Amino acid sequence: MTLRSVKQIIPALETSDGAGVRIKRSLGQHQSVRLDPFLMLDEFGSAEAADYIAGFPSHPHRGFETVTYMIEGHMLHEDHLGNRGDLRNGGVQWMTAGRGIIHSEMPQQEEGVMRGFQLWLNLPAAGKMTDAGYRDIQPEDIPEITSSGARIKLIAGELILEGASHQGAVTGGSTEPLYADVHLSPDGQVTLPVPARHNAMLYLYEGEASLGEQALRRSAANVLDDGDRITVTAGAGGARLLLIAGKPIGEPIVQYGPFVMNTREEIEQALRDYRDGRLTA
Ligand code: FE
Repeated sequence: MTLRSVKQIIPALETSDGAGVRIKRSLGQHQSVRLDPFLMLDEFGSAEAADYIAGFPSHPHRGFETVTYMIEGHMLHEDHLGNRGDLRNGGVQWMTAGRGIIHSEMPQQEEGVMRGFQLWLNLPAAGKMTDAGYRDIQPEDIPEITSSGARIKLIAGELILEGASHQGAVTGGSTEPLYADVHLSPDGQVTLPVPARHNAMLYLYEGEASLGEQALRRSAANVLDDGDRITVTAGAGGARLLLIAGKPIGEPIVQYGPFVMNTREEIEQALRDYRDGRLTA
């Protein structure tokens, strides 16, 4: 049993995406800043409508998955397959772009807070041209685990806690992703298993917390070294953080905006397919 510690901190940079939505981007801020199999992590959070109202009008993706976790707010997803899904407080949208999806993500509120995360999860070469898919996960379908120091929403993967096995809303997948939203009570502490050799990170988004002597940095990817568990401790005000881990794919990545493939030729093919209206064919 080895405890993981923080080996690298990637502070999020403020930027904008879509039609002008303000975000904080940690993973993916440059193409060299990734944590295989994760390509990008954006945090969005604002009470100012101007920061989010323009949304993400119709745009394509190919070659990976997007996982949107809405903590507070209301967005509508629509795609070329005819899916329409409301993403509300506490809900998750798990979208597999596969060979191609064209979708929009537009705010359904004109005021108030919108807050959440979007994670991009890469697919291995064998899965990049799979059929597009979409899952709308309601907040009540996300298992919640309570332990003495923490409340954990298990979006994806398996967690064994105090001898009991818990399955997330999404399980399996070639990279076996683990995605948990951990709410620590004031001075609360929890020990969580993280599969050895999975790449893993903690993203602290509220309060203060530490791994042993190491303070976690807020709004940053706190990337962990190898091991099979973490022990995280909150400060006096409690803390909220994401635990994200996955099995590395170890393949070359060539990215052009919303297309993420293995080779330049595949990117050129994606651009031709999109231009010719065949991206999703
Ligand atoms: Fe998108």
